[in-house]
Amino acid sequence: MHNPDHYLLLTPGPLTTTASVRESMLKDWCTWDDDYKSLVQSIRSDLLTFAGVSAEDYSSVLMQGSGTFSVESVISTAVPDDGKLLVLVNGAYGKRIAEIAERLKLNVRTIEYAETDMPDVEKVDTVLAEDAAITHVAVVHCETTTGLLNPIHDIAAIVKRHNKTFIVDAMSSFGGIDMSITDMDADYVISSANKCIQGVPGFGFVIAKRTTLQSCEGRARSLSLDLYDQWKTMEDQNGKWRFTSPTHTVRAFKQALEELKQEGGVLKRQERYVENQRLLVEGMRTLGFSPLLPDAWQSPIITPFYYPEHDAFQFERFYEELKARGFVIYPGKVTDLKTFRIGNIGDIHPSDITALLEAVRESSYWIEPAAI
Ligand SMILES: *Cc1c(COP(=O)(O)O)cnc(C)c1O
Repeated sequence: MHNPDHYLLLTPGPLTTTASVRESMLKDWCTWDDDYKSLVQSIRSDLLTFAGVSAEDYSSVLMQGSGTFSVESVISTAVPDDGKLLVLVNGAYGKRIAEIAERLKLNVRTIEYAETDMPDVEKVDTVLAEDAAITHVAVVHCETTTGLLNPIHDIAAIVKRHNKTFIVDAMSSFGGIDMSITDMDADYVISSANKCIQGVPGFGFVIAKRTTLQSCEGRARSLSLDLYDQWKTMEDQNGKWRFTSPTHTVRAFKQALEELKQEGGVLKRQERYVENQRLLVEGMRTLGFSPLLPDAWQSPIITPFYYPEHDAFQFERFYEELKARGFVIYPGKVTDLKTFRIGNIGDIHPSDITALLEAVRESSYWIEPAAI
């Protein structure tokens, strides 16, 4: 019988972590001495290694809070009063960046696409050519709303041809999908502890180009989310955080980074996620479920499926049945369509996907496809 206290999170974060990551939190840390600060410094340096960037050109900054706090710290610190931010929106997370900028009363323009659409990169070129006031461009890499993988390298090429500062929300992809920050010449790449690095929630991080960050002193509209000040303190005081740091989360993150190394790095992790996703989609199709997106646009992070085509389907009941069997799935987030989502990231392996598919088949909502 399944232990009801234990379930796998098939969600895009917080996600299923390993027992060793959770066990690494069983100690209290002081924050001011060299032991802790060197832990922070080693994390900052590991992040640059996984990002494939040089410590000469880039630096990493850790920021308390969930991933959104890190996004907000970048937007608040990067865009000057006389600047203008262009945001590409094809889902909830792109929309959130635009909302952050509006709250901060920044000059912001959006290019909006349907949530199920791939952004048209030509349009970015046209807008940048006609609107010279734009100084910064922000885009989400894996739009977790749908799992759609935006073409950030193509977008980067246009943004850089127009000489703009490039901000990438790589929250749900960094560490799990290979990308080249150097090729993109990205200025800010943002992610958090509890996504593809497979740590626990509590802080986010930013990989920032040094020359760009250096020009941001005194610009942030927030004290606690001042990315420049946070960076200066960490950089000048060897890993010190300005305000209380999430010590246990930080320690767990170091363990998660070690486990990413042991797995063989980002490409190996990506292979596992790809295999999880391939098995998931193949199995769900066999069970009569259709994925929302064309396969070619789909990331190996999270996959939305349409509700099955029979009227009795109730997501809440389906969810509870799967949870009772040890699997937590995720509600849909696409505005007008009836979908639910299943994540493949975290400490999830092909055997877990096989077991999930078995649980779906045994749920009360599975109908022999031939009977529909
Ligand atoms: C998870 C996520 C965020 C941040 O969400 P939080 O709930 O604040 O951690 C931002 N952008 C994307 C694309 C995400 O997947």
